[in-house]
Amino acid sequence: MRCVICEGREIEEKEVEEEIKIGNDIVLVPVKVKVCMSCGERYYDIETMRMLEEVEDKIEKKQLRFELIGKVLKVAGV
Ligand SMILES: [Zn+2]
Repeated sequence: MRCVICEGREIEEKEVEEEIKIGNDIVLVPVKVKVCMSCGERYYDIETMRMLEEVEDKIEKKQLRFELIGKVLKVAGV
C-alpha cells in the first residue's frame, strides 16, 4: 500500500485518538488506524469508520460514559 497523498511507502498501524466534535465539546475516541509516516495522512478501514459512526450515534443518544480528562478553554479577550 502506498500513501495517496505523498506516495510514501511507510504506512504503519497506530493507535490514535480520533476527535469527535459534539456541539462545543470534543470527545476523544481511541482507534487503530493506518498512518503514513511521511505526511501523517490517516487511513480508516470500513470497520473503524463504522465504529466511529456508532460512537457518534451513542454520544448523541447519551449511551456512553465519559471520563473527564481536561477542558477546552478559550481566551475571552486579551
Ligand atoms: Zn503520505
